[in-house]
Amino acid sequence: MLIHNARVVTWGRPNQILEDQALYLAEGLIAEIGPAAEVVARHPGTETMDAGGQLVMPGNICAHTHFYGAFARGMAIPGPAPASFPDILRKLWWPLDRSLTPMDVRYSALVCLVDAIRHGTTTLLDHHASPNAIDGSLDVIAEAVDQAGLRAVLCYEVTDRDGPEKAWAGIWENARFLERCRDGEVAGGRVAGSFGIHASLSVSDETLDACRGAAPDGTGFHLHLAEHPVDEEDSLAKSGMRVVQRLEKHGILGERTILAHAVHVNQEEIELLARSRAWVTHQPRSNMNNGVGAAEVEAMLQAGVRMGLGNDGFSNAMWEEWKAAYLLPKVWKQDPRRMPGSTVVDLAVYNNADLAGMFFPRAPLGRIEPGAQADLILVDYHPTTPLTADNLPWHILFGFHESMVTATIVAGRVLMRDRRLLTLDEEAITQRSRELASAVWRRYHQQVPSH
Ligand SMILES: [Zn+2]
Repeated sequence: MLIHNARVVTWGRPNQILEDQALYLAEGLIAEIGPAAEVVARHPGTETMDAGGQLVMPGNICAHTHFYGAFARGMAIPGPAPASFPDILRKLWWPLDRSLTPMDVRYSALVCLVDAIRHGTTTLLDHHASPNAIDGSLDVIAEAVDQAGLRAVLCYEVTDRDGPEKAWAGIWENARFLERCRDGEVAGGRVAGSFGIHASLSVSDETLDACRGAAPDGTGFHLHLAEHPVDEEDSLAKSGMRVVQRLEKHGILGERTILAHAVHVNQEEIELLARSRAWVTHQPRSNMNNGVGAAEVEAMLQAGVRMGLGNDGFSNAMWEEWKAAYLLPKVWKQDPRRMPGSTVVDLAVYNNADLAGMFFPRAPLGRIEPGAQADLILVDYHPTTPLTADNLPWHILFGFHESMVTATIVAGRVLMRDRRLLTLDEEAITQRSRELASAVWRRYHQQVPSH
């Protein structure tokens, strides 16, 4: 396919904005890019898409999300409002995830995938929980991702909170799915796996060792880290060590491991994170919503920690997350110099591409160049001030909205064109989701603790 009449944002290093370009896509990759007239002339008779002067950019990447949380939107929590993050887990997320059936898992994923296509997020790293529907749950999600045409990395969160049998079921679900992903062919190579663990606070030493033992060599883990001080307190009580040290001792850190949040780590832990090459993901909307504090993103980056940007189950409108990441440190530190737009881009664009790219080694991800994955979005943005490769971060932060995304393409396949979804039936998914969600809410209300 040819996309012409495009203003291309490459997200290369350095970033470039190229005027009046055409891209030729073949076999899921960007085969050619160049001046529109030349590229179009070389490929007569090819199906074309006229970008109409819109920006053509690499699709956004979300480094940490939870599809299973989709049905929480608008759900009432009975009794007094949860007063702390552990209370939010106990009164919201844990009774909710226990209420999910395989069909709910499927539809909560589909709802998020519709949202992702609409808002130009083309790769998502999901962290799944459904304690009463563990076996095969990752296949259910993989099938939804396949149907949507998006790219995703999946895992199941192992936890002791529902007893040893379910902890083991979680371990086997990860191991089974990783084995299935071994040849890189699930969903035509668009779905990969990692090994999920809920968080240090909900697993014993024995369970951590069992995860390590069941994870094939070279596998990374995906878990929450020090989201609230309780993770540190729990680790000190269990092991006498802070949480990063505990994870290191059990072989959980490493260059393919993803640690969400790291809000309450100390300097020594930050240095250990940097040495371990593990990834830390930042989710400022979630941190603000849960009242858990703010991660020392700039300090961690300076110490050499590799950091990406996720959404923790908030909307798959990643520019919304960019805006929160940009604003939060300014108000927190009362200093407008904190978190420049270029640092947000480092997290959300370059680092997320490096992180997600590890799981899809066939071709570079997250940038436009010959040979890269053809994961692209069209953005109908017509700036009222000069737009350059250098000032683009601030155009995105102050001018972009996800509703400007008019087309979404993954592996060269068009998933949305002129804002019309081509792979998923949004209306049918929305209607079925509403029915399933009200049944989930009923089951949730039967088991949620009232205090
Ligand atoms: Zn999370």
